[in-house]
Amino acid sequence: MLSGKTAVVTGASRGIGRAIAEKMAAEGAFVVINYNGSKEAAETVLAGIRAAGGDGCVMQCNVSDFAACEAWMKEILALYGKIDILVNNAGITKDGLLMGMSEEAFDRVIETNLKGTFNCIRFAARPMIRQKSGCIINISSIWGQRGASCEVAYSCTKAGIIALTRSLAMELAPSGIRVNCVAPGVINTDMMAGFTDEDRAALAEETPVERLGEPDEIARTMVFLADEASGYITGQVLGVNGGLVI
Ligand code: NAP
Repeated sequence: MLSGKTAVVTGASRGIGRAIAEKMAAEGAFVVINYNGSKEAAETVLAGIRAAGGDGCVMQCNVSDFAACEAWMKEILALYGKIDILVNNAGITKDGLLMGMSEEAFDRVIETNLKGTFNCIRFAARPMIRQKSGCIINISSIWGQRGASCEVAYSCTKAGIIALTRSLAMELAPSGIRVNCVAPGVINTDMMAGFTDEDRAALAEETPVERLGEPDEIARTMVFLADEASGYITGQVLGVNGGLVI
């Protein structure tokens, strides 16, 4: 399905990004597994991919650093020749009341989630435009669609990513590049570590399908969107949320 494709997945050392890297590799893509601090975890992901018969590489880059993203994308091109798929998955959250949030914490969430997405696209889109093909998939969230109390900064970034996706899809469609966005519901990863069992049970109860989601369910959607058979899908926000946003 993705044979011969080079897929770059940001934040692929853990959680949803890890599942996306594994699934894309299983579908035949050569996967660039990006991490920021978790080198060992990223190397474990690559080892698992290779053990399953796939291939890829591990590359460190802090996506919030504009210059580092430029150097990273150049390095990918020098080493592997092309970028067919870019998945902007890296993200962080900082929960808490707005009135207690420091300027630094707000900036960090914006710089990682929203600016990080811009930074990677800024330098990956150039070779895609040259090759007149490419697929960019961003990660938003239900909280970017509905808003979330105590997650103002995070929700802002995720709503911004929806606007970025729609605008850029229009801009890049004439160059043969599709830009879409997946908006997950509540997914079982480290990002949920701050939630108590009671919180999780309450969220599951609020969800029409009565459970939380798994990283693999997001990864399957990514593969669907990345496949050339989805060539008529661009500028869309695909909710994978058990019915939390209907
Ligand atoms: P996670 O388990 O906390 O993993 C986050 C990943 O992002 C890690 O691989 C981390 O790398 C990477 N990362 C963080 N900051 C980075 C930076 N500056 N540069 C490069 N990589 C960075 O999170 P997750 O739950 O899998 O979330 C993945 C994405 O899905 C995020 O964008 C999140 O907002 C979104 N999402 C999650 C949920 C959910 O319920 N879990 C719901 C909706 C949307 P290191 O390990 O190296 O730090």
